[in-house]
Amino acid sequence: MYRAGQVVWQVLAALKEKVQPGVSTMDLEVFAAGRTAELGARPAFKGYLGFPCVLCTSINEEVVHGIPSAARKIREGDIVSIDFGVELGGYYGDAAVTVPAGKVAPETESLLQVTRESLDRAIDKVRPGNRLSDVSHAVESWVVQHGFTVVREFVGHGIGTRMHEEPQLPNYGEPGRGPRLQPGMVLAIEPMVNAGAAGVVVLGDKWTAVTADRSRSAHFEHTVAVTENGPWILTRPREMAGPSW
Ligand code: MG
Repeated sequence: MYRAGQVVWQVLAALKEKVQPGVSTMDLEVFAAGRTAELGARPAFKGYLGFPCVLCTSINEEVVHGIPSAARKIREGDIVSIDFGVELGGYYGDAAVTVPAGKVAPETESLLQVTRESLDRAIDKVRPGNRLSDVSHAVESWVVQHGFTVVREFVGHGIGTRMHEEPQLPNYGEPGRGPRLQPGMVLAIEPMVNAGAAGVVVLGDKWTAVTADRSRSAHFEHTVAVTENGPWILTRPREMAGPSW
């Protein structure tokens, strides 16, 4: 799973640099497809339940599952969420990052920071003996105390030889519930946080989820293993320390 995770990392790290005004989300898609092939992995999203692309690219009020398009050009001040997964040697990795294009408004900067921090705090709960909902609660409590809201329609998940495995991992809930975390478990932790109200709706393309009030939304994700020594983020280099994104 670490090998799969490193492919996810390499592609997303390169994509972060490519998010600039004037670039289309299809430009990102084409790069990701080519780089994934070079690295010998199989994109996990393309064809999954009929999804047409390698990446999910979701801009501003789009929460998740946006479809790359040559017509959709990134503009100064946008935030671009890129969600990406691969399968390599029968194992999956899955991660997401939200990237600002040029200079963004202070509230948008805060939305990104709080969402990333909520992921950091959730990852810190990935320790043997903690319960699953301790991870959920770490996200929600941090988000709510900063005045933002957590999306409830989409959740994190177990991951391994399939992209989506049990258990589901909501980004909300009371602590102390659900299964105890044990070494060897792997979770895709993915807070989705709205600047306005929590509700989302799915557009006519049947994929793109947007905030119901069209406020902006951010999404950060890593694939994280439970070890005896605590969390191991599989979707970045092992030697990397500090904030998760
Ligand atoms: Mg995921």
